[in-house]
Amino acid sequence: MSNPKKSILVAGGAGFIGSHLCDALLTQGHRVLCLDSFITGSEANIAHLREHSGFSVLQHDVIEALPGGLIVDEIYNLACAASPAHYQSEPVHTLKTSVYGAANLLELARRTGARILQASTSEVYGDPEVHPQPETYWGHVNPTGPRACYDEGKRAAETLFFDYHRRWHLSIRVARIFNTYGPRMQPDDGRVVSNFISQALLGAPLTIYGDGRQTRSLCYVDDLVHGLMTLMDTPGRAILCNLGNPREERVVDLARKVLDLTGSHSPVEYRPLPVDDPRRRRPVIERARRLSWRPRIDLDEGLTATIDYFRYALRNIKADASQRMGTGPIRELAPI
Ligand code: NAD
Repeated sequence: MSNPKKSILVAGGAGFIGSHLCDALLTQGHRVLCLDSFITGSEANIAHLREHSGFSVLQHDVIEALPGGLIVDEIYNLACAASPAHYQSEPVHTLKTSVYGAANLLELARRTGARILQASTSEVYGDPEVHPQPETYWGHVNPTGPRACYDEGKRAAETLFFDYHRRWHLSIRVARIFNTYGPRMQPDDGRVVSNFISQALLGAPLTIYGDGRQTRSLCYVDDLVHGLMTLMDTPGRAILCNLGNPREERVVDLARKVLDLTGSHSPVEYRPLPVDDPRRRRPVIERARRLSWRPRIDLDEGLTATIDYFRYALRNIKADASQRMGTGPIRELAPI
């Protein structure tokens, strides 16, 4: 099958998922423009691509109008902090990122005729009353709680995508991404996988919020990136699709598995459940299966690769911290 080389903009390309997507698109021979404000992304995630002739970087905040003169064939919009700790620290900026960011990128798509994909989220289902969650479920979201800047922002972005499609016939894809994990997650981003692995490697207690019986469905990043590209490449004018791993894991079982795979003797510590924390999450992925996509990497394999990365990342954090001779928790890190 021929694979014409394209110019592709990845907004949020220096983030966890975005940097893996840049890798995969470049491997296919496309030209990639990574647009990022670096608010939660990092130079380290894309350092290995800097010398690649097909790769360029534009530092820009998507809430501001995009520079003129951009010509692209495809746009992936991943620009948005994804961990609750990050997106809640600047909630107004988070909401603007989702809404203004989507509008600015949709305008670019309208101007250039590019196909555009939105990285939406299972958070649009809120704390779901329907389980597992099909794309037809409209969700159960608190519009005024601390997670609303993210959840409602993503919901509004979906609305914009479908309105641009209806009004200007844009070719759109909306991927509702469920929990994704893997190398290049930030060790201190507060997400369940990064928390458990960092804590286990540092010999700190693994914190379980609530009784640990709440579930998460965890998808390895390579599977997810393959899903995003499959969605982009699928013919059609407007596609809405869940992407995630339907295997459901209790948080307490995940903690045990991480202890097992790291060989850590950390204890487990229980804390109160945060406000609006979803109790259950599992995608229905029949639509994605019809596009011939399904996750292939099992949890043990994915966690092992992630743990290897965290060993390396935490060692670097420790080295930086000791160089800076600063104060704070980093100085207390136990040997890894
Ligand atoms: P991340 O925080 O690692 O990446 C987000 C990237 O977007 C970062 O590089 C950040 O600097 C950039 N960014 C944020 N706000 C920006 C702005 N205003 N202008 C320009 N760049 C900006 O998060 P991630 O886990 O890689 O998530 C990527 C996308 O996938 C997000 O849109 C997120 O909502 C979505 N998603 C992720 C998950 C997950 O489990 N990781 C689940 C559901 C949805």
